[in-house]
Amino acid sequence: MQERASQLRNFVFRIETARKITQFLCFLLFNAVVFGFQPWPLPLPILHSIWTPQKTVVDALSALQLMLYEVTFPWLPVASFLLAAIVLGRVTCGWICPFGFIQDLLGYIKRRHSEVSLRTHDGMVKVKYGVLLIVLFISGSLSVLLAAGIGAGYETALGAFASAPFDVLSPSNMIFTTLPEIVLETRYVIPYWLETGENILGAIANGILSKPILFWVQLTIMMGVVVLGVYIPRSWCQYLCPHGAALAFLNRFSFLGLKRDPVKCAKVGCRACVDVCPMKVRILELPWEKFTDPECIYCLKCVSACTTKAIRPKFP
Ligand code: SF4
Ligand code: SF4
Repeated sequence: MQERASQLRNFVFRIETARKITQFLCFLLFNAVVFGFQPWPLPLPILHSIWTPQKTVVDALSALQLMLYEVTFPWLPVASFLLAAIVLGRVTCGWICPFGFIQDLLGYIKRRHSEVSLRTHDGMVKVKYGVLLIVLFISGSLSVLLAAGIGAGYETALGAFASAPFDVLSPSNMIFTTLPEIVLETRYVIPYWLETGENILGAIANGILSKPILFWVQLTIMMGVVVLGVYIPRSWCQYLCPHGAALAFLNRFSFLGLKRDPVKCAKVGCRACVDVCPMKVRILELPWEKFTDPECIYCLKCVSACTTKAIRPKFP
């Protein structure tokens, strides 16, 4: 019995360790310009920031918005979403997205997390589809009007939201672009301040305080997402992320799925898989043969948690 428990612990440790190492390496790789890597023109369905100079890959949703703004059909970002999701579902969310990785790390801060009732959860998961639809509506309608030569007024009215409406408020832009820029500015200023004794810190504070209102809105959203992520792990991914919404929609048609052996599962009759799932997938209510739940990010925590090894990945 003890040997079995120890084998299970090892198995759980192996999958979660492999996932964390993959997430960490991708986090480094996607920001690897700082290590001398060249950027690749590769749009991926991950939440990053297209505006950050250290990126090596392109955030597909940002690319899609910018291409629509330039009145170009965004075939490469669309192909990226379709290909990734149809073949591997939301694996990119569970294993390589840098913002998903940050969400996972935030979840470690508190041992006990807040419970969200299933009713609230079911309502909240739909919000991300609303975010995606709003972004697509603004970018798509502007693109059509610009192509027709009558979009100038609409573009002016949209202001900062014209080129990439989601990016203006994205917490990921704040984390990967805006905050590093502020930190980099202080890199030059502090030595100068130490040397000259001028009131540079006051100048920095004034500079930050004079930032436009959108900066403060974006900062507030980012802080809200971070705090929420501490209390409800992966809350951004479950409820708000438009990338997650696009992938969740396509995840239903994914070749990759999970299957559950009814005989092995019935042996213990527990809910270990459901309890451990960070995306609140109701595994026990889904078909045995194969399930491809929109919310599943293929973290494989349920596979590890199952003491009878009843759950396995299934492809295709
Ligand atoms: S839902 Fe969004 S932030 Fe979360 S892992 Fe997926 S793409 Fe990344
Ligand atoms: S169903 Fe399993 S693999 Fe999917 S998100 Fe939940 S724990 Fe992870």
